Amino acid sequence: MAKKNQSIYPFKIIEPKFTLESKLHIDNFFKLYKDFRGYRSALGFLFYFIEKYDIKNLTMEDFNFINELIEEENTKSKKGTFIKTFFEYLYAYDIINDTRFDDIWIKADKKNYFDKKIYGVKENKIVVETSHEPKKKIIDFGKLNDIEDLVKQTVERKNIVRCFVAWYLLFETNLLPVYIREIKRDSYTEKGVLDSEGNEIVLPENCQEFWYEYHKRNKNGFGDLDKCIKNLGNMVGLDNLTPTEIKNTRDAVRIVCFNCEQAYKNNFENWVSVNGRIVCKKCSEELKKNTKYSIDEIEQEQIESNEPKTNLSAIYTFEQLKKKYLKTDYLSRHKKQIEIGDLGEAFVFDREFEKLKNTDYCYMLESKSDDETNGYDILSFELDGTEIFIEVKTSENVGLPFYISEHERKVAEKLINEGKRYSIYRVENILADCSDDVIVTIINNIFDSSKYKFETYQWRVGII
Ligand SMILES: [Zn+2]
Repeated sequence: MAKKNQSIYPFKIIEPKFTLESKLHIDNFFKLYKDFRGYRSALGFLFYFIEKYDIKNLTMEDFNFINELIEEENTKSKKGTFIKTFFEYLYAYDIINDTRFDDIWIKADKKNYFDKKIYGVKENKIVVETSHEPKKKIIDFGKLNDIEDLVKQTVERKNIVRCFVAWYLLFETNLLPVYIREIKRDSYTEKGVLDSEGNEIVLPENCQEFWYEYHKRNKNGFGDLDKCIKNLGNMVGLDNLTPTEIKNTRDAVRIVCFNCEQAYKNNFENWVSVNGRIVCKKCSEELKKNTKYSIDEIEQEQIESNEPKTNLSAIYTFEQLKKKYLKTDYLSRHKKQIEIGDLGEAFVFDREFEKLKNTDYCYMLESKSDDETNGYDILSFELDGTEIFIEVKTSENVGLPFYISEHERKVAEKLINEGKRYSIYRVENILADCSDDVIVTIINNIFDSSKYKFETYQWRVGII
């Protein structure tokens, strides 16, 4: 976009060029402000440089471009604020459709703000969504349970604790993703972070030990917020979980108490039934004092999720998992097999994590064993970023043949034919008292017939 003389940009010259629809939207926007002259001249400036007269075509690039221009101008006018408000308005009502704005704003918040201006609705009341609005992506019931269980766990993997912290800040607080990403280390405290008004947000206990160490380090920000969240999603089998999805879920699970107009999560323990009407716990304490009201327990139904398979190796270190498992003395043979398999996977995951811990790839290291159709257990990387598809084969003993399924064999064949790295990590002596005695043999090409032979007993593989 070429630069122009920045001294004149009167709105009335541009106005006739707008499409009819754009004119209506702009008029509606001006109606929100008693003194809209500031907005008129700001929009004159905007469209003089952007030259788009159908406003639904405005994009994130336009928004950034105009902000840069204003910064260069270096005047003290409110032009920037006015233009930002205009974009927020277009975003709130889906007049523009650039989803990248989701990263810096929360639609529900912006819409509430403008609804309040238009209809005088109180900001924290639930606003009924109009039907043309696309349904927001939220986390489903089962996965939300899984995540909430997961983030309560005590874990030693620092990159995982960081994911828990990211979840907490997004789901349990009002902090916006854009604030969290750019949070400066001056805003880190020993136990948590400061919000934009300087109030301390204290993190849950299982995160604090890690946080205490982290806050002392000379590092800003949560620039990797999106990565942390994607990683957290992967741990419960959700692909591409985003901060926006978490914020949408936070909005969706909050109910406003009609009595005090405060919003609380819809968890059972936050609500009490008084004369058959639910109110927040705090209000119920007040209402209790009046003996004519009867307070009831809300009945609780517990739905057991059907054994969601979380990727244990991604969460627990080998040593933690070993402690967890070895508590039980008598296990069925089948269950013991599964646990031995999990331990082997955790062992390999630890090694890969250690190898990658100073690179960005450690966030991409992923356990894939929750879904058997994958045909491998871990997606790892070389230091240069080359993918390694790892199938872990674990045993308590040493020197015995191992088995691979027909599906695993096919996946191996396919990946190797595509020139990818598929490796079997043969882990033996997994229950050794000292983890130094665990033996790991890496088989890079299982089809190398000079070293390995397939026996057609469910593809029993013996090392020659
Ligand atoms: Zn209340």
